[in-house]
Amino acid sequence: MTKQYKSIQTKLIHAGEPRPLIQGAVSMPIFQSSTFEYSGQDSYHDLRYIRLNNTPNHIALHEKLAALENAEAALVTASGMGAISTTLLTFLFPGDHLLAQECLYGGTHEIIAKDFSAMGISYNFVKGDDPDSWKRKLRPRTRAIYVESMTNPLLQVADLKAVVEFAKVNGLISMIDNTFASPVNFRPAEWGFDLSLHSCTKYLNGHSDIVAGAVIGRSDLIEDIRRKLNHFGASLDPHACFLLHRGVKTLSLRMKYQNESALEIAKYLEEHSSVEKVNYPGLENHSGYQRACELFDGFGGMLSFELKGGVKAAERFMQKVTLPIVAPSLGGVESLITRPATTSHSGMSPDEREALGISDSLIRVSVGIEDTEDLIADFDQALK
Ligand SMILES: *Cc1c(COP(=O)(O)O)cnc(C)c1O
Repeated sequence: MTKQYKSIQTKLIHAGEPRPLIQGAVSMPIFQSSTFEYSGQDSYHDLRYIRLNNTPNHIALHEKLAALENAEAALVTASGMGAISTTLLTFLFPGDHLLAQECLYGGTHEIIAKDFSAMGISYNFVKGDDPDSWKRKLRPRTRAIYVESMTNPLLQVADLKAVVEFAKVNGLISMIDNTFASPVNFRPAEWGFDLSLHSCTKYLNGHSDIVAGAVIGRSDLIEDIRRKLNHFGASLDPHACFLLHRGVKTLSLRMKYQNESALEIAKYLEEHSSVEKVNYPGLENHSGYQRACELFDGFGGMLSFELKGGVKAAERFMQKVTLPIVAPSLGGVESLITRPATTSHSGMSPDEREALGISDSLIRVSVGIEDTEDLIADFDQALK
């Protein structure tokens, strides 16, 4: 069904689309049917049923998402956390051990730090740029190493090539949350990662109107995850499948624009006399710059910065901007702005945040697709 299109922009439109078209429909119809006529399947996992994630809406998305990252297979889920928790619990059993990058997405950090012990799973958080320290934390039952393509909110880039190498040498499954980069900027399978995870709520859908997730990667591992997902029930509803399918078609257009816009805004902020520090991997003085240049096709639409004048100045700035909406989440067409200390990282103590370099005055921006000059003009008036 899927031809080998080379460009991601063409894959976004054509990969996974049913051929022949269903009743000639140019847009994938919604199959709003919980169950489907029995057609001789032997296994429970092959019956067609929405929770088994195998209706036509799921199948089209699975093919499209796998094609985007040049991977073997993909699976959509009810949320990003549905993909992450199901993946971790497919491969980690009581007595097993996980190596995970410190400073993970809040929900992922919580499942590891708060829920694992009751399941008898142990873990160590490690620095993404210090492979020697990973080796020291390795245990006989270490099963996997888990990282993110860019950390939130400082946009640090781990030594991702070393992660893949370390996993291969030590027989671990390499897992990466690729939400922040999106398949336009980074395709983990091309660098040897076993599994790539996404909150499709963010860039893949891009319109801040659904919650969805995906896991993309090696087909043998995806098959194991699929079976676990069938039991856990974190399958994606066909309506949400339809919206994700529609939203993802413009991913490349949106992401390329957001890459450019965020870079321009980062440069503007870096020059401004009221700004103390800007975190964006496209700035040459950012710690992740060299790695981002080597691994990524773009630096992404996320940036964070600190103002001179601390929390007070940050709060005033957030009240004064008119275009960005003060809200958590990211990756949509509208710019969003938050203070991580009060939102995504409020679960951590001030000391924990400080250890990770996240100050209480840090402001995070998800750059949308508004005109760059309009956004800069708005930031400019707010900074005055
Ligand atoms: C939002 C997010 C998640 C969780 O996704 P949900 O769709 O909200 O469950 C996981 N990882 C990253 C990096 C995220 O930004």
